[in-house]
Amino acid sequence: MTNPRKVSIFGATGSIGQNTIDLIQRDREAYDVVALSGGRNIAQLAGDAIDLGAEVAVTAFDDCLPDLQAALEGTGIQAAAGQAALIEAADRPADWVMSAIVGAAGLAPGLKALEGGATLALANKESMVCAGPLVMATAKANGGSVLPVDSEHSAVFQALIGEDISAVERVIITASGGAFRDWPLEKLATATPEQAATHPNWDMGQRITIDSASMFNKALELIETKEFFDFSPSQIETLVHPESMIHALVGFNDGALMAHVGPPDMRHAIGFALHYPDRRMLPVERLDLAQIAQLTFRPADETRWPALRLAREVMETGGMAGAIFNAAKERALDAFIDKRIGFLDMAVVVERVLEQLSSTTGHIDAEFTLDNILDSDHLARTRADEIIAKL
Ligand code: NAD
Ligand code: MG
Repeated sequence: MTNPRKVSIFGATGSIGQNTIDLIQRDREAYDVVALSGGRNIAQLAGDAIDLGAEVAVTAFDDCLPDLQAALEGTGIQAAAGQAALIEAADRPADWVMSAIVGAAGLAPGLKALEGGATLALANKESMVCAGPLVMATAKANGGSVLPVDSEHSAVFQALIGEDISAVERVIITASGGAFRDWPLEKLATATPEQAATHPNWDMGQRITIDSASMFNKALELIETKEFFDFSPSQIETLVHPESMIHALVGFNDGALMAHVGPPDMRHAIGFALHYPDRRMLPVERLDLAQIAQLTFRPADETRWPALRLAREVMETGGMAGAIFNAAKERALDAFIDKRIGFLDMAVVVERVLEQLSSTTGHIDAEFTLDNILDSDHLARTRADEIIAKL
């Protein structure tokens, strides 16, 4: 028997984290769980840490520490809280680390895990958007690797296995279109957070679900595609595919299009990253295509979804534009969730922050270090808040 693999899960209490734990639970003997992290759902975090026999459980929030300590008392599992504790947990040796915190907060723990040479399963797309070159360089310098968990990127990764990357003409990232794809344009301004937080096909965290309705999620994914696979922006296309069965397509120079088809269940992409380079049995639905009967496609309309146009600008600009875009988006999303701004205002906020900071000399082109990225992130959040206050 081979030794159990040491695994850690950051963002363990979220949608991706729970799907990851589901796969680990099915084959408990194969894994030693090192660290689990979560936010305010202490009952979930402590319960999973106990079930999985983790070494340490970390809540992101200091004020949650007493509850976590109480829940873990007498178990021998260490309880910790805050940013420094997250980094310390990510520094513990692990073979495979799931990065599933939502937002730019996921960047630092993922980088720390890569510094230790781990395989980083990257659900946290914001890491690639804010810091793609740094993430890839850190993996390379320390003998670690990054595997995509976003379903579209897992699909592209799988379609590229055994292929010559120089034979790729284009990559097509599909989008369900989210909650409002069939709404008349005039009605979008009135969309509420509750309406935006229901996804037609996928069951995901609240923030990514709203980002799917605005297509900011797809915008992040276009940038993620460029950073992950090093394609040029002109090679990356978006296609609306309401059924969410085809996750991405790769087009080659002989005209072949390789599509990845599967049910909308993240356990496929998570399991693929967990077992790579092997393929193992996964508990996902087997599609009955005759029953499904048809798959449909529509163009991705940049008037309806300005986030897609902004993603193109960010890919063309490069440098810190991704970190600025993501941070402004996170603040605009917070403001929309709090009902301080409308649904369409989110793109207005992000566009204005990008305009303001792109013209700040020396900023966009700053060297790709974690400190510089966090500076850009901070500045973009401040600017976004100023703009939001005036809307
Ligand atoms: P979620 O909201 O369900 O879970 C987020 C996790 O991060 C939770 O454990 C939460 O406690 C933790 N967290 C939140 N704020 C934090 C902070 N400031 N510091 C540290 N931890 C914090 O989110 P999710 O849907 O699981 O998404 C996680 C990541 O995976 C996101 O980057 C998302 O874009 C990506 N992703 C998700 C899906 C999906 O199906 N849910 C698919 C593809 C990619
Ligand atoms: Mg995705």
